[in-house]
Amino acid sequence: MTENFCVFLDAGHGGLDKDGKYTTAPSKMYQHSRGNFHDGRFFYEGVFNRALTNRVAAKLDKLGICNIMVSHEYVDISLEYRVDVANWHYRNFRKGIYISNHANASGAGAARGFEVYTSPGVTASDAMAEFHWNNVKDLLGDRISMRADTSDGDHDKEARFFVLTRTVMPAMLVEHLFFDNYDDASLLMDDEVVERFAEAQVRTVINFMNR
Ligand SMILES: [Zn+2]
Repeated sequence: MTENFCVFLDAGHGGLDKDGKYTTAPSKMYQHSRGNFHDGRFFYEGVFNRALTNRVAAKLDKLGICNIMVSHEYVDISLEYRVDVANWHYRNFRKGIYISNHANASGAGAARGFEVYTSPGVTASDAMAEFHWNNVKDLLGDRISMRADTSDGDHDKEARFFVLTRTVMPAMLVEHLFFDNYDDASLLMDDEVVERFAEAQVRTVINFMNR
């Protein structure tokens, strides 16, 4: 069942380099007025993205499900390169999916909640996103706010993000809460919340492989 299926994992942006310096633009971090995040009051989106994505990769490894990390351990490599790597490897597999992990920011810190994005139109990506929406709702629906666009009959939102339109396999981009909101950012630091987001992603992979 799994031999020709590979999951391409993309932890968005960059992380902390060997000197502890954040490699991504200031818009991808937020200084809260209180709290204890990745560096005191600073929340680094790329660090969260990696914590989650690494956990998903470990879970897939344990299950013997092929996965390839297209992001770097900490360098903020280009979207073109991430997509090229996935598309190149995909030629060796008959089936696979691309998952890009992020956390959101509204600028004002007022917005909260979880969102899944796919490219416009109805494709296999929508089936994956719908599995994922339901898995996250099952595992975390009582703790987080779920933001949906149901105007087209499913829960995902649609956007022409590069990693969604240029990948040759079904792809989704997941926005895990808003890191510039204090309560959402605090949830993202909670190990149990990260664990459940990761578990939901693994369930989505298995749902999609078995559909
Ligand atoms: Zn992001």
